[in-house]
Amino acid sequence: MPAYDDDNIFARILRGEIPCFKVYEDDRTFAFLDIMPRSKGHMLVIPKVKATGLTDIGADDLSYLMGVVQKLAPKLTDALGADGFMIQQFNGEAAGQTVFHLHFHIIPRWADVPLKP
Ligand code: 5GP
Repeated sequence: MPAYDDDNIFARILRGEIPCFKVYEDDRTFAFLDIMPRSKGHMLVIPKVKATGLTDIGADDLSYLMGVVQKLAPKLTDALGADGFMIQQFNGEAAGQTVFHLHFHIIPRWADVPLKP
């Protein structure tokens, strides 16, 4: 994994340098809509601590972040009338990671709507 880059897009979003559609924020986490949604309501949940991926965040911060994902995912699903939700998280370029600040995708799913590429 590359070293954490303070100028990655999500660090800049956290600093308010790049606009986003904020869905949720507390003192340790931030959630916003994905700019290229794979379904309606596709959301990203990120920690405020500097972590490039799953392996360089502390257990307590990760646990807190997962608690927020667990809370937001069903709320989003219910609010949109979706049938379920997908969680995605990529580590490393080879795995499809494009932004090197840890993030969890919450992707609402409808039984009759295929996922966008
Ligand atoms: P990854 O492939 O790294 O797991 O996903 C990164 C996600 O960040 C992609 O789904 C992409 O659409 C999203 N993204 C990239 N740049 C921006 C941006 O400037 N604003 C927002 N809201 N999402 C972004």
